Order: sequence, then structure tokens, then C-alpha cells
Amino acid sequence: MYDRVFNFSAGPAMISETVLEKARDEMMNYAGSGMSVMEMSHRSSWFKEIIEGAESSLRQLMAIPGNYKVLFLQGGASTQFYMIPLNLLNSSKKADYANTGAWSKKAIAEAKKLGDVKVVGDSSERNFSYIPKISTSDIREESSYLHITSNNTIYGTRYTYLPESPIPLVSDWSSGILSEVIDVNDYAMIYAGAQKNIGPAGLTIVIIRDDLLGLNPDLPTMMDYQTHVDAGSLFNTPPSYAIYIAKLVFEEILRDGGVSAIEELNKRKAGIIYQAIDDSKLFKAHVESEEDRSLMNIPFFSGNEDLDKRFLQEAAEEGLLTLKGHRSVGGMRASIYNAMPIEGCEKLAKFILAFDKANS
Ligand SMILES: *Cc1c(COP(=O)(O)O)cnc(C)c1O
Repeated sequence: MYDRVFNFSAGPAMISETVLEKARDEMMNYAGSGMSVMEMSHRSSWFKEIIEGAESSLRQLMAIPGNYKVLFLQGGASTQFYMIPLNLLNSSKKADYANTGAWSKKAIAEAKKLGDVKVVGDSSERNFSYIPKISTSDIREESSYLHITSNNTIYGTRYTYLPESPIPLVSDWSSGILSEVIDVNDYAMIYAGAQKNIGPAGLTIVIIRDDLLGLNPDLPTMMDYQTHVDAGSLFNTPPSYAIYIAKLVFEEILRDGGVSAIEELNKRKAGIIYQAIDDSKLFKAHVESEEDRSLMNIPFFSGNEDLDKRFLQEAAEEGLLTLKGHRSVGGMRASIYNAMPIEGCEKLAKFILAFDKANS
């Protein structure tokens, strides 16, 4: 009815129509306020209810324990790459990182500006096509934390196990948050940009265990997690409209049966596309082992650039958009976050097999 396409963008990405329609209906006059959420004071009682509602729904969805703080920040996951070492480095000034792709590399580069970084798992030698095993004996006991990228957006890998870490585990969950059930207790900190699996760009979610707060005094005010904890994420103007949409998304997931129901659906969705790739003669998935395959991002290619180009063209004509792969992998990438309907995955799978038949 809206002529919408199936948008396989890695981010910003699809948002469910139910959420967009609700936002549309509330655009001109939110809850009798006579204004839109974009226009209202972040100190107003309407917005207070929105940000508190967003936090409580997220806490419910992820079963976030009481000793974890939830922050709504700005600056993207990329700002976290620097804020994490700034806040979490202990007197050793050491931190350990797994290198599983472009985002890990960026996180490592920022941490190196502040401390001594050891890479304890690295899959670069096979173009990040698998998740490396991290052996506990490689992790330095005196290090401040171990950092992993739980879902690797560009290379399409994800952790299906967690390293046995004697030190606090910090995870970049940007492209996988709320896509599968996790135990927050396994992590000391989780962070994610909202534009992949939650809502509009401009909002960054941080979930942090309270014993990690206040380790380093005298940080620049906006860079200090403690500032935002003390102010309930309202130290300065937060990305209020993005928080409002995030709240609508959280409420929709709750209504749809929570993260376990979404996980089951995500496994079906990803399975449909991997099956088509694996059944085809022309295409190959970048990540071979099923165990390491992301449920959210599926890079695949034919190895023939002209053929890949034609695939993208013909797919676009069918309403299957933004399938071009990242330049570091090439070929195609299907990003199928929570808001991608299963019909989009079925249509893409069908298209892959039809293209394969016509061209092989
Ligand atoms: C997209 C992404 C980032 C970068 O997020 P920004 O919000 O653009 O800073 C970092 N890490 C991962 C895993 C991502 O997918």
C-alpha cells in the first residue's frame, strides 16, 4: 500500500511499518500535548515518560539486572570505541581485544591511544570469515577488560560461544542487539548504535555494570559514564525523537513475544537465505561454518564481478534493495535485522535460486 521495498541495508535499516505508522499518527499531536515529540522539551513530563518507558521496556526485553545502568547516549558506537578505554582502563592501563573485522580494528585503534592493547584472537588471515577461539591463557589477568564485537556487520560472523574471561567482558553488539537471547550477566558492558536493529541513527545504547563506573576521575564531563548515570541520560539534550522510536520498537517486540520469539524468527529468516546460497551453483557465503554465521548480515558472492553487478541490478528491479556488499568483501550482503519481514527473505532466496538457474 505504501510501495515500500525490501531494504537490505546494513544501517540505517528498516523499521517496522507498525512503528512508523504509530509515529505518523502521533506526529502532529503527541498524547494531547499539541506538539510532536521532536518539538517538546526533554524536561517535559511527556518526554520523561518516554525515556523511562524506553528504559523499562529494554530492561524487560533483555532481563537487565538491577546492578546494570542503561544509558541513552549520542556519538554512535564509534564514540564508545574511545569512551570505553577512557572510562574502564584500570591502573594497569592494559586492555585485551579480539580482532574480528573492521569495527574491531577501529575499536583497537582508539584503545591504543590510551593504553596497551593485546590482540587475543584474530581472524584477519582468512579475511575475517570465522570467529577465532580466544584461549583464556592468552588473556592478561591484569588487563582492564576483554573487548569483542559480537556480531560482525561487514563480514557476517557472530559469536555463538563466549570466551572464558577472567576479566570484565565488553561487547559491541551494534548489529545484533535484541536479535537473540543473551545473558547480560555474561558481560560487564554492552553497547550498540541504534540504527541497525532498534531505530533511527543518533542514539547509542550503553548497558554497564555499576562497579565499572567512576574508575577514572576528572574525565571530560560528556565522556564520563558517571555523568549520564547521575543525570538519567538527561545531562544535556538527548536524541529525543530516536529514543521515542526506540521505545515504540521495544514495545512492539514485547508484544510479539519478546527476544526469544524474535530469535526463533531470525533463525528461520537467515536459514532461508543461507539455504538458497548453499543450494546455488554460482554463489558462496563468505562465512562457511554454520556455527559462525551471523543471523543479521549475510555476505555472499559469485566471484565474478560482472555477474554480481547484474545480480544487484536485477534484484533492485524486483524491489530487493541495498544488497551491495561492503568493498572489503565484495559481492552482496543481505542485512536482515529484526524489522526485515520473513517475506523479504523468502523473496530474496527465490531470486537467488532463479538467478542461479538462469545464469549457470
Ligand atoms: C555500524 C557499526 C558500528 C559503527 O556505528 P556508528 O553508530 O556509525 O558509530 C560499530 N560497530 C559495529 C559492529 C557496527 O555494526
